[in-house]
Amino acid sequence: MAQDAPPVRPPPPSFSPLAIACDRHSCQDGLNPSRSRLARRAVPLIGALLMLALVALAATLAYAWGERREFARLDDAAAHQLDLYAAVLDIELGKQADLPWLIDADGEIESLLRTPEPNAIRGAVNRRLTRFATRSGALWAAVIDGRGRVVATSDWYRPDSQLDHIAASEPCVAEALAGQDARRFAVDPTSGAPEVCLARPLVRDGRTLGALLVRISLEPIEATWVDAAFRAESEKPLVVDQQGMVIMSSVPGWKYRPLGSLTVPSRMLPGGVQLVRLQAPGSPGTGLHVLHERPLARFGWRLLILSSAASVQRDARTAAWGAGTLVTCIALLLMLVVQRRRVVAQKLATRAALQRANDELEAKVRQRTAELEASNRELRHEIDERHHAEQVLRQAQEELVQSGKLALLGQLSAGISHELGQPLTALRALAANGRLLLDRGRGDQVRENLSSIASLVERMGRITSQLKAFTRKSPSSVRPVALADAVANACQLLATRLQDEDITLRIELPDALEVQCDGYRLEQVLVNLMGNAADALRGTAERRLTVQAEVTGGRARVRVIDSGPGISAALNERLFEPFFTTKPPGEGLGLGLVISSHIVREFGGQLRSVPAASGAVFEFDLALADAGTDAGPPALPTPSEERHV
Ligand code: ADP
Repeated sequence: MAQDAPPVRPPPPSFSPLAIACDRHSCQDGLNPSRSRLARRAVPLIGALLMLALVALAATLAYAWGERREFARLDDAAAHQLDLYAAVLDIELGKQADLPWLIDADGEIESLLRTPEPNAIRGAVNRRLTRFATRSGALWAAVIDGRGRVVATSDWYRPDSQLDHIAASEPCVAEALAGQDARRFAVDPTSGAPEVCLARPLVRDGRTLGALLVRISLEPIEATWVDAAFRAESEKPLVVDQQGMVIMSSVPGWKYRPLGSLTVPSRMLPGGVQLVRLQAPGSPGTGLHVLHERPLARFGWRLLILSSAASVQRDARTAAWGAGTLVTCIALLLMLVVQRRRVVAQKLATRAALQRANDELEAKVRQRTAELEASNRELRHEIDERHHAEQVLRQAQEELVQSGKLALLGQLSAGISHELGQPLTALRALAANGRLLLDRGRGDQVRENLSSIASLVERMGRITSQLKAFTRKSPSSVRPVALADAVANACQLLATRLQDEDITLRIELPDALEVQCDGYRLEQVLVNLMGNAADALRGTAERRLTVQAEVTGGRARVRVIDSGPGISAALNERLFEPFFTTKPPGEGLGLGLVISSHIVREFGGQLRSVPAASGAVFEFDLALADAGTDAGPPALPTPSEERHV
């Protein structure tokens, strides 16, 4: 039974993770490849720029925050230091500010001023001033008369004593003699050391008798600032007088110079903190400084502190670097996490896609397996049916073979009866003749007759045994058969007919070729093929029938060739159909080729009609009898033997 070919299915899609990933991406963003490639390249660039901007912002903010915090800290520290320096100055200067008033405790000085000549009072006042100066730490103490002459002094005993020296030109003295308390800054003319001149007029009855003068050195206070002078980043205290002149400073080079020549205002910080830039040559530490000041009310001076902002900027830079690094680390960490998550998500997606593909594949395999099982069942069913049909066919064929044989026997019966009739007539004549010859005593001729009778009987016996072979239904006995014998027997069976119909028989066989088959059945095949050829040659002008054989491919190939009309294509298709015949009723059953083909197949060969330029060619192959040992080279056919039977 014909069955439709299964539909050709497309091959299952390949499921490489990469292909899936690509598909997923291209499907997800829906971009064309070049645009999506551009987008993929732009994303990290934008990310990097964003990260840079973020780092820069964090660094800037951290710098500003650090600067503000450090300035606040510096401001606090400077204010604190300023308080300390101011307190020290106030205490030190305040302690000595009242000294001129302490000197005039007992009216002795007044007496001296009234009688200014050197006398006992003057000596006593001198000694008293010396004691006073020593104990109070003042540099110099003196009594000045109304004309500005030094009438008593603490250095009376020294060779360079200023006793009787006229000091009226000194601003401090002049101011006191003018009736005012004087507090003036002064510079020691010889050492250049800073001093404070304190003077008090001695007024009696509305008249200025003179003045009391004390000089105090500022060097001890300044000496405590020296430490600060050598530390580049420490605060630098300095005192400025009413004219803006630096009169005290931890930096010697700054002294007696206007403050404006040392600093340049830079900017004002929130909270009123003044930033200045140092420009004085030889200053320990330049750059930005925080400037703090407060007035020293007692003298009308100002105390200033300059604190270096270098540490502020350094700390702010450190904070900026720290923040930048931190943000970079966090950003990198975030990028790492995002990247990791993306990779994990991609892996999961790939795994899911693989799983889906796997499921699909499994489903397809299941479906295909089910289909295969179904088709297997169908095939098995079909095979069973075919098997059954083959059995039926084989049975029918066997029966047909049998009936074919019978038909063939019927066909041959005319020839047989002719074949047997002739010897029988001859026998009858020979017997009658023999009796006459015996009566006449011609024994020699009788003997001749008897031997002729014997050979005729033998010939008849051969014919009958061949007939028996056609009609029997026995299992074939396959054994080595001389092909030439089988061909000769077949020719003998058809000899009369071939002779009657004037057919030229040509036999081309290799020497001593033996084939593996049942001899009788082989003869049956040959008789059938040759009989068909004889039928085909009927009515043709040239009647040639050739039986030839050759050894090829380790097998014997036998051909029956005739010069008849040949086999048309339409006829060729139906040759081996049972009961197909082109012969008139009573002449052909349409079983000859079917039976012959069946017999050849039993021998392991195949019977077929071979296309030929003219006439018909039937060919079948048989195993060689010595094929099991060595087939040897193909045997050459003997020189053709042509005969009229
Ligand atoms: P039958 O001889 O009874 O018809 P066969 O099976 O022997 O049955 O032959 C079937 C048919 O094959 C014949 O009727 C004939 O038409 C054709 N045929 C067989 N041999 C030849 C041949 N040598 N030349 C032409 N036709 C042939």
